Amino acid sequence: MREQVIKEVPKAIHINRIIGKLGTENTGPTCIFFGGVHGNEPSGVIALQQVLKELEKVKIHGSFYAIGGNISALANGERYHEKDLNRLWTEKIMTKLEGGEFQAENEDERELIQIYDTIKNILNSEKGPFYFFDLHTTSSKTTPFITVNDSILNRKFTELYPLPLILGIEEYLDGPMLSYYNEKGFISFGFEGGEHYSTEAIENHKAFIYLSLHFCGLLDEEQINFEEHHNLLAQQSQGMAHFYEIYERFEINEKDQFKMKEGYKNFQRVRKNELIAEFNGKEIKMKEASMIFMPLYQSRGNDAYFLIKKTAEFFLKLSILLRQLKIDRILPLLPGVLWCTDRKEKMLVDLKIARFLTKPFLHLLGYRARQMGEDALIIKNREANSRKSEYKNEGWYK
Ligand SMILES: [Zn+2]
Repeated sequence: MREQVIKEVPKAIHINRIIGKLGTENTGPTCIFFGGVHGNEPSGVIALQQVLKELEKVKIHGSFYAIGGNISALANGERYHEKDLNRLWTEKIMTKLEGGEFQAENEDERELIQIYDTIKNILNSEKGPFYFFDLHTTSSKTTPFITVNDSILNRKFTELYPLPLILGIEEYLDGPMLSYYNEKGFISFGFEGGEHYSTEAIENHKAFIYLSLHFCGLLDEEQINFEEHHNLLAQQSQGMAHFYEIYERFEINEKDQFKMKEGYKNFQRVRKNELIAEFNGKEIKMKEASMIFMPLYQSRGNDAYFLIKKTAEFFLKLSILLRQLKIDRILPLLPGVLWCTDRKEKMLVDLKIARFLTKPFLHLLGYRARQMGEDALIIKNREANSRKSEYKNEGWYK
């Protein structure tokens, strides 16, 4: 049965950590959806509640979990209390948390611990393979899109959706939840369903949830009305269902005065010299023609906007080849490249010596690169922990 379409999205909602669960443990793939990791984004939660209800009597092959994000912030209708829950999954905090040594100092950190424990239980009680989906909305109007860390597994899976796919956002963000699970080798990515509190975002989230359950093998095409959900998303992203990469971020601090000019939509093309915002009393004009991504139209946040460009098909193919050949194994033999730790997970690149190791080249090899001052990059291989063998017998992998 189909739930009634909601006319107005409530500002505050009260939910449990596990919003709902369907299916039988250990019988197939496990899909874990998060809604409301940002408390001012209830649309994903509402969509999950509706899908759970609609599927109540349907036989599912595997397990479908709907997990609440920042549930205390959702109850207050605010993005977070003190710390953004989607920036807490840093290496520093998570190493402590995994070792049982992390002490929460605020409400958001308590949420982090609870979510971590909930997922740990699921990972222990299910056999997988596991899929993580994080449902969000944006402060500006947008075509629905996917944000994904650039690993071969993630790319292969997300290409199934008729949506714009944004690679590499994690290079600019510290501690998003989806990166933590991605770095554990799982398929894990985010879906932005539309503008905050818009009813369209709920419908888009529902279509995304149904398609995902189908792609993972939990439901057959006939069980989900595939065409309807696929068309809903495809119609909105006509001609945009490609990979894009972020090449620039405009960062702001709490004290900065930033105001985006009215009317910018996500993925909007901008011309050279176009006036797009005001920053501490100065005009921000475009240095070149580009495409705006995630313009900021809310009071909280450090990302004023990003600039993106379409990734050429040739580079997508070349990068798969280079990663399969494991060309990067020779990197530490080069002058100016050093292992950072004994565990050999990260390398430090001295750009004064290893000038040719530019960010675009490192991306091709499957590394995320973080700028450390002017002349150094810290690089980390996204493929190193890939759980490819756990997914390779799944229907979509072939
Ligand atoms: Zn969000």
